[in-house]
Amino acid sequence: MSEVRFIAEAVGAGRTSAASVAREVGSRIGHAASLNAVLHWSPELLDRQAAKLDAMSERQRGGRPLAGVPVAVKDNIVTTDQPTTCGSRILEGYTSPFEATAITRLRQAGAIIAAKSNLDEFAMGSSTEHSAYGRVHHPMDPSRVPGGSSGGSAALVAAGVVPAALGSETGGSVRQPASFCGIVGVKPTYGRVSRFGLVAFGSSLDQIGVFGRRVDDAARVLEVISGHDPNDATSEDRPPMTAEPARDDLRGVVFGMPREYLPAELDPGVRAGVDRAAAALKRLGATIREVSLPHARFAVPTYYIVAPAEAAANLARYDGVRYGPRKVGAAGDVAALYRATRGAGFGGEVRRRILTGTYVLSSGYYDAYYQKAQQVRALLAEDFRRVFEDQGVHYLLTPTTPTPAFKAGEKVDDPVAMYLADIFTCSMNLAGVPALSLPGGRSEGLPVGVQLVGSHFSEPGLFGVAATLERELDPTAEVR
Ligand code: GLN
Repeated sequence: MSEVRFIAEAVGAGRTSAASVAREVGSRIGHAASLNAVLHWSPELLDRQAAKLDAMSERQRGGRPLAGVPVAVKDNIVTTDQPTTCGSRILEGYTSPFEATAITRLRQAGAIIAAKSNLDEFAMGSSTEHSAYGRVHHPMDPSRVPGGSSGGSAALVAAGVVPAALGSETGGSVRQPASFCGIVGVKPTYGRVSRFGLVAFGSSLDQIGVFGRRVDDAARVLEVISGHDPNDATSEDRPPMTAEPARDDLRGVVFGMPREYLPAELDPGVRAGVDRAAAALKRLGATIREVSLPHARFAVPTYYIVAPAEAAANLARYDGVRYGPRKVGAAGDVAALYRATRGAGFGGEVRRRILTGTYVLSSGYYDAYYQKAQQVRALLAEDFRRVFEDQGVHYLLTPTTPTPAFKAGEKVDDPVAMYLADIFTCSMNLAGVPALSLPGGRSEGLPVGVQLVGSHFSEPGLFGVAATLERELDPTAEVR
C-alpha cells in the first residue's frame, strides 16, 4: 500500500491521530533543516490543522481521501496562513488574502499543509540555486542540486519528510527534480488542475504538479486537486480524475520511443535507465516502436522565447505598490519607486527573463521571435498529435533529463547550460500533454528518471501503466 493511502486510512479510521502524524512531520522537518528545502512552517500550524481533523467524528474524517496526509507545497502556490514568497526578495513577508484552489481542495480532503518549500525565484531555473533564500541540497549528496525549480518539494519527498508534495511546471520543474531525486513527478494536462492561486510565470504553460515516492502517492493527490474550477477560465470543464490501478500486464499497449530523445551523446547512465524500462515494458507484453518527433530540437529555443515573454508580462505587477517591500527611489516619483523596488527585489535570472521577454515582444522583433515561436509551438504540438492519433501510439517512453543530478555551481553562471536541463521536458508543456517521471534506477549511485508521456487528458491510463512499470523497476538498482 502506498504511504498516502496508509496514512489516510489509519487517520481516517482513528487508529492513528492526526496530531501524532503532525508531530512526526515536525520532527522530520527539523532534522532535514540542512537541506534548506523549507521556507515557512511552524509546529503550531501543524498542530492546529491536526487538531481540526482529530476533533471530527470518525464518519466525517473517514470519507476524506487524504485524512492526516502531510503535503509540502511549493512557495509559489498561495496560502492564507503562511507567507508566499516565490523564492524572491520582492515578495518577502507577503501573505495572500486568498487561497489557491488546489490548497482548498487538499484541505477539504483532509490533508495537512506541512510546509512551504523552497524554489528557484518565480520558478525560473532547473537547480533551485536561483532562490533568493539559498540553494536546496540534494538529499543524497549535498554537493549536488536537487533539480528545479520545485527542488524544495522534491527534496522533502525524497528525504522522507513528507509522502507527497505540490510543485509547479512551466517547462519541467516537477519532472526534472523528480528524476534527479529518485521519486515520481507528474505534470498534468494543461487545464487539468486549476491555476487559481498559482503565481503566474508563463500562463499558457503553467500547471500545478505532484510529487510522491510511488506512482500511487502522486495519483491520490492529483485526483484531489484536479477538476474544473470556475475561478480559472483555462481549467477544463471535467470532473476530477480517477487514476487506473496497476495492471497484470501491458499486452496491447503501444509505447513509442522518439529517436530525437535518445541522441548519441546522452549520458550513458540515463540511456541505461531508459533501456531497462523498455526491456521491462517488453517483458510486460507491451509493444515498443521507434517514432519521430521531428521538431524536438526546437523545443528549448521555443520555450525560452514563449516562457520569458509571458513572464515579462506577468511580473510587471511587482511594482512595490501592491505587493511586498517598497523601496522609494532617490527622485521620489513613481518611476523611481518602480526602479528601486524592482532593482532590489528581482534576482539575476528573473531580470534576464524580463529583459529577454520584453525584447521578443517589442515591435520590430515580435515577428522574428515571439510570433515565430508560436508557430513552432504549433508544430511541436502537431508532432505529439501525429504519434498519438495517426500512428496508434498510446504512450511515449523517453529520458526525463539529459544527465543525473549535477554539482551545485556547475551551471549557475551559464544560462544556456542550465536551460538545456529542460531539453526532454519543455515540449510537453508547450504541447499541453501530460507526462510523468518515475525512478528508472541509479547510475553511480545517483537516480536516473524515465519519462512516460500521454495524449491530452490521458492521465488515468498514464498512471495505470506507470504503476505497472514501477513494479518491475528496482529504483535503487545500478543500471550501468
Ligand atoms: N527550468 C525551466 C525554466 O527555468 C522550467 C521552469 C519551470 O518549469 N517552472 O524556465
